[in-house]
Amino acid sequence: MKVVKFGGSSVANAEQISKIIRIVSSDSDRRIVVVSAPGKRFKKDTKVTDLLIELAGEVLAGNDYEAAFAAVVERYAEIQRGLGLSEAIVATIEEDLRGRILDRGAINEQFMDSMKASGEDNNAKVITEAFIHAGIPAVYLHPGEAGMLLSDEFGNAEILPESFATLAALREMDKVIVFPGFFGVTKAGEVATFPRGGSDITGAILAAAVKADVYENFTDVDSVYAMDPRLVPNAPAIERMTYREMRELSYAGFGVFHDEAILPAVHAEIPICIKNTNRPEAPGTRVTLTREVGTQVVSGIASSDGFCSISINKYMMNREVGFGRRLLQILEEEGVPYEHTPSGIDSISIILKSSELCAEKESLIVERIHAELAPDFVDIEHGLALLMLVGEGMHFVLGNAAQATTALGNAGVNIEMINMGASEISIMFAVKEKDRKKSIQALGKSYFG
Ligand code: ASP
Repeated sequence: MKVVKFGGSSVANAEQISKIIRIVSSDSDRRIVVVSAPGKRFKKDTKVTDLLIELAGEVLAGNDYEAAFAAVVERYAEIQRGLGLSEAIVATIEEDLRGRILDRGAINEQFMDSMKASGEDNNAKVITEAFIHAGIPAVYLHPGEAGMLLSDEFGNAEILPESFATLAALREMDKVIVFPGFFGVTKAGEVATFPRGGSDITGAILAAAVKADVYENFTDVDSVYAMDPRLVPNAPAIERMTYREMRELSYAGFGVFHDEAILPAVHAEIPICIKNTNRPEAPGTRVTLTREVGTQVVSGIASSDGFCSISINKYMMNREVGFGRRLLQILEEEGVPYEHTPSGIDSISIILKSSELCAEKESLIVERIHAELAPDFVDIEHGLALLMLVGEGMHFVLGNAAQATTALGNAGVNIEMINMGASEISIMFAVKEKDRKKSIQALGKSYFG
């Protein structure tokens, strides 16, 4: 049995939806189909999820929202016309959206999640109709009805462990199940969404719950590439990788698969296969617990902008028991997550996502560090990019850090920070955002030729 997930670009219009119908009907093992909201049809297009966020914003601001409303409905109407489905489905969607707007409660975050979730929910309804129209017995399933229970962190929810046992029952369905991705319900019955891009998470949860033989994740590229093909156009394809490699690379900037979608697959040891809706015959990238480590030491090099660091110096920091704990406690109490903490005997840096640190939070944290830890020096640096070199083979091979630092040095890149994960399958470099592209190209040349 296979769980298949189709991302936004795979369900963006009638033509793409016709492809997914062919893909599902060509293999009777493809029994659970998770779908995203309609994504971009062309480069400058807007995803339905973004249209919905705009619509919800207009509603909350008390503005006239009819134009934003019509823009959302038109995306589904275009699909309905293209597939020759009954107009009734568009009326159902309009009614659904009006209902969400009229019945909104007092809590804006909950309303926002309900609107965002409607993108996948209504697309799943349209796609179910499309399957039936094509003569394939299919049924739409609401995540709430199926038992997909989430935490009540709206916009950033996580699966509740008890969901897996309930969702296991989906294995018994005799029709193709069309399941909207990206959302579930809280114990109180409110709709809550995963972080953006979270339909991958839905697919992984379902694959784990039904103990699928494979979780196929269809997107718009033939495979995962060793580097971002937009930065390095001839980056090599990755045929096999491990869950650990995928987690590190997705976290550090690979956009093909959501990093939080790895965990459910790891727990149930479900192989993941990344495939292309536009070229389903291409083998894709297979992600499993282990793989043979060949001569290629580094599997992939990821990078992303948007980080900052808080650096703290204090003589004899190494003798001060509890310094690290008290520092991290400040972050905890201010509700700020951190990503890395490289440290030396008298210094420690904390790397954070810049989006987690507004100006107000920043000055509060710096003030508290001064007052509670009496450091010699505190500095905050913005505009950092992280580069992540990942490969199971790195554990066994000498000279990796040297090779990378030489490549960066020769390219004239100043390394701000280095951190080697305890797993020894990754090395992280922080550089200035302006040096990111140059760095990736230099590392790519050094490792992949
Ligand atoms: N539609 C949602 C988003 O754009 C979730 C997804 O596509 O996975 O973030």
